[in-house]
Amino acid sequence: MPAEGIQGSLKTRGIRVTRQRRILLDLIDRSGSHLDAEQLYELAKQQDPKLNRVTVYRTLKMLKEGQLVDELDLMHVDGDQHYYETRAKREHAHIVCLACGKIEEFYGEPLHRLRKQIELHLGFQILVARTEVGGYCSHCQLLRAQEMERAAAEPVPPPPAPKSRRPRGR
Ligand SMILES: [Zn+2]
Ligand SMILES: [Zn+2]
Repeated sequence: MPAEGIQGSLKTRGIRVTRQRRILLDLIDRSGSHLDAEQLYELAKQQDPKLNRVTVYRTLKMLKEGQLVDELDLMHVDGDQHYYETRAKREHAHIVCLACGKIEEFYGEPLHRLRKQIELHLGFQILVARTEVGGYCSHCQLLRAQEMERAAAEPVPPPPAPKSRRPRGR
C-alpha cells in the first residue's frame, strides 16, 4: 500500500496520522511476513531512533483496535508472542509448522466458501475470520521420518552389566 493509502486508511478510521503510526503501519504493510512487536520495534527504531518500546506497543494496540492490523498468535508456536499483519491483505489461513515454526499462507476459495456457509447457516454477520492450522511441514516430516528410522535401526543397548566388583575393603 502506498503512503497515501496508509494515511488515507488512518484518516477514514478517524485515527490521527502521526509519524510513529505511519512508520509502524508502513513496516507492517511492506514486510509481507508476520513480525512480532519486538521485531517491529527494532525496525521502527532504525527509522526513528527516538521511538521507544512503550510507544510502539501502544501504537500497535491502537492500530489493532482501529482494525488496520490483525494480531495473530500463530498457534503460540513461539511462546506468548503476537504477530502483526495488515488487514489490507486478502483473507488467508495461516499454516504453522509446530516443529520449525515456518508459517505459510493459504489463500483460496474454500475460505470464502466457509464464510458464506457460516453466514447462510447461522445467519451470522462475519466481521473477522481467522484460520490457523498447525502441523509438520514437508521438510520436518522428512526429518522426523529419518529420525524414526535411525531410532529403529539402532541396536537396543544391552542392559547395564550388574556391578559385580566388590567394594574394596577399607
Ligand atoms: Zn517445519
Ligand atoms: Zn498472514
